[in-house]
Amino acid sequence: MKADNTKEAMTAPTKTKGAMEAKARSPRIFQHPGFGKKRANSKPKGRMLDEAALEQVRELIGDDGKTFDMTIEYLHRIQDKYGCITSVHMHALANLLRVSQAQINETASFYAHFDIVKEGQTKPASLTVRVCDSLTCQIMGAQNLKRAIKQGVDETAVRVVSAPCMGRCDKAPVVEVGHNHLVATTAENVFENIRKKAISPRVGPYQSFEEYEKDGYKILKSALNGELSAQTIIDSMSDSGLRGLGGAGFPVGRKWSFVRAEKGSRLMAVNIDEGEPGTIKDHYYLSRHPHQFLEGMLIAAFVVEATDIYIYLRDEYPDIRKILLKEIHKVQDVGLSPHTRMHLRRGAGAYICGEESAMLESIEGKRGWPRQRPPFVAQKGLWGRATLVNNAESLYWVPKILQQNKGWFSSHGANGRKGLRSFSVSGRVNLPGVHLAPAGITIRQLIDTYAGGMQKGHIFKAYLPGGASGGILPATMDEIPLDFDTLNKYGCFIGSAAVVVLSHIDSIVDVVKNLMAFFKDESCGQCTPCRVGTDKIMDLINKKEWDLKTLEEISTVMQDASICGLGQAAPNPLLCAIKYFKQDLVTKKFCSSKVN
Ligand code: SF4
Repeated sequence: MKADNTKEAMTAPTKTKGAMEAKARSPRIFQHPGFGKKRANSKPKGRMLDEAALEQVRELIGDDGKTFDMTIEYLHRIQDKYGCITSVHMHALANLLRVSQAQINETASFYAHFDIVKEGQTKPASLTVRVCDSLTCQIMGAQNLKRAIKQGVDETAVRVVSAPCMGRCDKAPVVEVGHNHLVATTAENVFENIRKKAISPRVGPYQSFEEYEKDGYKILKSALNGELSAQTIIDSMSDSGLRGLGGAGFPVGRKWSFVRAEKGSRLMAVNIDEGEPGTIKDHYYLSRHPHQFLEGMLIAAFVVEATDIYIYLRDEYPDIRKILLKEIHKVQDVGLSPHTRMHLRRGAGAYICGEESAMLESIEGKRGWPRQRPPFVAQKGLWGRATLVNNAESLYWVPKILQQNKGWFSSHGANGRKGLRSFSVSGRVNLPGVHLAPAGITIRQLIDTYAGGMQKGHIFKAYLPGGASGGILPATMDEIPLDFDTLNKYGCFIGSAAVVVLSHIDSIVDVVKNLMAFFKDESCGQCTPCRVGTDKIMDLINKKEWDLKTLEEISTVMQDASICGLGQAAPNPLLCAIKYFKQDLVTKKFCSSKVN
């Protein structure tokens, strides 16, 4: 019957005007959807599931629990295997995780290390070469290096792109060939590594479990045996004065006691997304002494009774991933983690995931959008559970502080400040690197006593005391103690203590352009002041003459109204340039000397 009707409809002559008018006059009969007259679609709407792709993704993710929070890891596996992420693979992953394609797409498209290829688009070249374009690499010639590499490779086989800080600023310029980081490199060295297909991460010598265990893991064992109570450990950490070394500087002991006081089961997340340009300290310690960090982490988990620890490692540190994967297993095998489970997660190239709430979103498998606070992550963190978030270096110091006499950590310090700081020093000095020095030393002391003085022929002109977001100060302001809280009145902060030293040959205008371009690229786009503000500032500073009034107005809006620290701190280098380096702007004709 239905078939006849359909046939009739298809072969019926075009209706006459009279028939149409008669139909319009007749009362309309309501027909409920699904009453049976209309045929269902013969196939589902939207993109069809590709069975071959489904099988490929199923093979890659294996028998894992297949939960959405593993999305980023699964996307990495697809990217690593196929060199990109196609729409059919995303569809297959969505099917296996039982989520919508939109959810997978939203996550995949957020992270710089995933190459999404849609139908009809060309896949990227099979090998990617990333040239760091962050500040220290830029002043060490990254732009010329990138140009030379591009000219020397077959771009159908090798893709050459710029990339933000890779955490090896003491050996700039840095290039990553596949996952092989080449430091202080030349174009010839890059070509040589491409020729040799040397694309895997290189792991240097580090303190093994066996070596560390001779004296290490004693504090953890005491805690697990019941000889050392959680409260005693918290008191010792509070006495030490250790503050969060990821940049925020919140007292570690106090944070632990807050999380421990929360009701319900708790979690822990470790932030190793050290993306602040100039910062190299976490990589430095983890690549040499992973077990001191692991012991500190397991002690913290014991104190807050975290059932699970999520270690969030930036994708730019594949060597550290290799180390941790191996060493975590050893620790588990000998029974040093009966109180908690450890999960190693990797980021995918998003600076904003260093912000703690964005990191938690990323661990949950989503794009790294910072959360509004309150509630704070100590109360509602991962999956709404109370979560302790600590930076890797903060945890690294925990066993040492607990082993030493009371007051050891706080007995260090200079110029009235207390504690030790790991300064990541890069730029125009003779000995760039991580320098462990008393908190509160001045830039002069840091350069002269620890960093081997200025390079020959370079006159100290300016410094960044806290990476890209910590502002810029002139060499004349060289008596300020470098520590938390001491720099705020100058429009700066120390953050993760990434100190970049500039000399008379470095243009402040170029420095500001580099830093603002970085913030524009890395803004997550969630809130308007930051998304539009970074973009607008870039436009304005690329003009011949800077409109200082407008630049200052935009900066104020960003500082006042951005959701997270990225947008709030992004204008710092620009405002410092206007405040402290006005003469540079005038000399180079970016503004008039009359402007105040
Ligand atoms: Fe995202 Fe910037 Fe807003 Fe932070 S301030 S939430 S990075 S748009």
